[in-house]
Order: sequence, then C-alpha cells, then structure tokens
Amino acid sequence: MQKIEHVGIAVRSLDEAIPRYEKLLGTPCYKTEIVESEKVRTAFFQTGPNKIELLESTDPGGVIARFIEKKGEGLHHIAFDSADIEADMQRLAAEGYRLLNEKPKAGADNKWVCFLHPAGANGVLVELCQSR
Ligand code: ZN
Repeated sequence: MQKIEHVGIAVRSLDEAIPRYEKLLGTPCYKTEIVESEKVRTAFFQTGPNKIELLESTDPGGVIARFIEKKGEGLHHIAFDSADIEADMQRLAAEGYRLLNEKPKAGADNKWVCFLHPAGANGVLVELCQSR
C-alpha cells in the first residue's frame, strides 16, 4: 500500500455538506458521481495530495443509509492506494482479512476497489483502490 488515497465520510445530504466542506477546505468540490452498484452519490475534494470523499445514500436501504442510521454521520472508511489491487487482495486474504468483495469492482473516481471488513482493522472499514 502506497498512501492514503482518500478518507470517506458519510453524510445525510450532499447539498448541505458540499458547501460546508468547500468552506472548510477552501477548495471547490471537483466532482460528484453516482455509483449505482453502491447506491451512493459521492463528492470529491482535493487538498494538496489528499482527497476527501463525501458519501450520500441514494436508497434508504443502502449501506450509507444503514451506516448513518446506526452510527450517525461521520468517518466511514479509509482508502489506501494500491499499485496492484489483486496482489494486495490475495496477500490480505491469505493473512486472514475478510474481503467484502471477491473481485475488484468499479468504484467512484475511476478506481478499482475492494473493501475489507472493519473487524480486521480494529473497527475501521478499509478500502483498497487502484486507478482504472
Ligand atoms: Zn472511498
């Protein structure tokens, strides 16, 4: 793993959260994108080398809606940049980490992604990602 690629934050409303993060970071949101397979609408911010992803549910039964119901808005996942996501997935599965998808799937912002169960990282949902 090379670096933290982005931090994902679950929000109830992107329309409210985007201007708040634009003011906080002093930079405009550079992209919003719907990821149908995950039932989310995402918004991305770049601050220097770092990225923030805001996630809003597009479906009351979606993972982000359920997360907010249980825990409220806030930090949802940390994504690490992988140079070879399939190799990292194999390595982590062999180490006993539970992968939440068996194959890399198409994620937001032009990435291949794989999520790891939070139990393997002391309660933190981890996302591996590699540019598509
Ligand atoms: Zn993410």
